[in-house]
Amino acid sequence: MSLEARAGVDVPLFRLIRRLFMKHPVVVGSSFAGLLISHRLARAGIYHLLVGKRPDFHSLRIGESLDFAGTWLLKENFGHLSRFFHRKDQVFALGARGQVLRFDTNSFLADRIAHLLLRGGIGLRNLDFRLIHLDRQGFDGALYDEVIANPHVRRIEADVEAVTYDHHSDRIVELTLHGGARVEPSVVFDATFHRRLIAEAAGVRREDLGGPRVAVFTHLYAVEKNREPANEWEVSTSVLNFGRSVLPPGVEGQGWCIPFRNHVSIGLSILPPNASVSPEELVGQLLEAFKSRGINVVERFPQKGPIVSVPHQYFTHARAAGANWLLAGGACTQIHFFSSTGVTTALGAAEIAVEFLKNPKSAQRYESFLRGLVGGHPIFDEIEERGKNGEISLPLLRRWVRSVFLRTWSCFTISRVPRRRMFANAIYRVFASQLYPIIGRHVTSYYSLTASPVGTGSQPQV
Ligand SMILES: Cc1cc2nc3c(=O)[nH]c(=O)nc-3n(C[C@H](O)[C@H](O)[C@H](O)COP(=O)(O)OP(=O)(O)OC[C@H]3O[C@@H](n4cnc5c(N)ncnc54)[C@H](O)[C@@H]3O)c2cc1C
Repeated sequence: MSLEARAGVDVPLFRLIRRLFMKHPVVVGSSFAGLLISHRLARAGIYHLLVGKRPDFHSLRIGESLDFAGTWLLKENFGHLSRFFHRKDQVFALGARGQVLRFDTNSFLADRIAHLLLRGGIGLRNLDFRLIHLDRQGFDGALYDEVIANPHVRRIEADVEAVTYDHHSDRIVELTLHGGARVEPSVVFDATFHRRLIAEAAGVRREDLGGPRVAVFTHLYAVEKNREPANEWEVSTSVLNFGRSVLPPGVEGQGWCIPFRNHVSIGLSILPPNASVSPEELVGQLLEAFKSRGINVVERFPQKGPIVSVPHQYFTHARAAGANWLLAGGACTQIHFFSSTGVTTALGAAEIAVEFLKNPKSAQRYESFLRGLVGGHPIFDEIEERGKNGEISLPLLRRWVRSVFLRTWSCFTISRVPRRRMFANAIYRVFASQLYPIIGRHVTSYYSLTASPVGTGSQPQV
C-alpha cells in the first residue's frame, strides 16, 4: 500500500505537500546531458528540478559524430526523434601527405559477429548497428520541449551560483541560485560540462589529458533543402590530420567534416598556434585542404554560418560520483572529440541516473565505463601525431579499429538491464580479448589505405 493511501489523505494534496517539503533530485545544466537525465527521470515518474538557463538552440551545437555505444543508446531511447539521425557509413582519416584511410563502419566484420551473438544472447532482435551523425541543433531543441512539458519536471531558469559541500559526509547539502534562492537537493546531477560545478566544490582531482587546445568550428548550409547526398563523404565522418604542410605555419591538430542533409559541421581542434591566425583563415584553409582530398564542402554547402572559437582541453576526474552527486558526461570526462564519445558519456550518465537515486554504488559501473573510454584516448593522440607527419599506416588503423570495437561493448556494460550487462561482460572477456586480434589481423575488407582522394563514388543508397 502506498504511503499516501496508508495516511488516508487526499492523494493529490499529499503529493503536493511532499513536493513542497521533501528534498528532490536536482539536475544542474539544461543542455544535452542535463536534458537526457531529466528525460530519464521523468520517464520513470520521478519528480525533480532542472536548473539552468534555456540554451540557445539556434547557436551552433557540437557533438554530432557518434560511436557505436552512443548510436545504440540513442536509437534505443530516442527512436521517436530519429528525424535528427543521419547516416555515418564510413570514416575517412586523411593524412597530411594525401593518404586516405577508409573504414567502412557498416561492414565491420567484428561488429557483424558481435551482432549475431547479441541477438542470440540477449534477444535484441532490432539491434541496428548502423552508426549515425546526430543533428544536435534539432535534437536538443526537440528534447528540451519534451522535457519541460513533462509534469515531473520543475524547471528553474537560473544558474547555480554557490554549492555547499559537506566533506565529512561527501554530500551536497545546498545549492544557491542566482538571485539568492536556496535548494536542498536529495541528489545532484552535475551537467555543467567544463564549468565542473560539483567537481570543483567537492575538490575532485582533475586529470588533464594533454595540454590546452583551441576549437574553431562552423556550420555551412545547403541552398536546396532535403536533397539526397551525392558523394560518399556526405554520409561519412572525415577527419583530417595536419601539420605544417597543410595549414599555416605553426598550426597543428585535427579537422573534421560531419555532414547532415541540410548542413555540414566543420571545424578544427588545434594546439594554440604560435603565430596569429584568424579563425576565418583557419576555416578557409581547412576547406581548401578537404577540397584537395576530394571533399568539396563549399560546392554542396555554399552558405556560411558564423565561426566560433573556444579554448578547450581533454580531461577526466579521479572519481565520477559521491554520496549524493554524479558528474554527468562532459562534467566528468572529455576525451578526444574524434573518438565520438562526448555524446556517449552523457548517454551513459542518463542510463545510470534512476538507479543512482536508489543505489549510489551503481556509479561504479559508470566510472568503469568512463575509464574504458579514457583508455582509448592515447590511440587518438597517436593518430593525430602520426597523421600530421603523414605516417598513417594499416597497423595503426588496426589498433584504432580494435579500440573502437572494444568500446562497442561499453553500452552494454553500462546498461540498466542486468542480463545485457552480464552477457556483454562475458562476451567481452572471451571474444574481444581472444578472438578479436585474430579477426583483426586476417580480415581487412572493411578498411583500406590509399593515396587517391575521397572519390564521389557511386550514388550512395539512402
Ligand atoms: C568542438 C567540439 C567538437 C565535438 N565533437 C564531438 C563529436 O563529434 N562527437 C561527440 O560525441 N562529442 C563531441 N564533442 C563533445 C560534445 O559536444 C560534448 O560532450 C557535449 O555537447 C556536452 O554536452 P553537455 O550537456 O555536457 O554540455 P553543454 O552543452 O556545454 O551544457 C552545459 C550546460 O550547463 C549550463 N551551466 C553551466 N554552469 C551552470 C551553472 N552554474 N548553473 C546552471 N547551469 C550551468 C550551461 O549554461 C549549459 O547549458 C565535441 C565538443 C566540442 C567542443
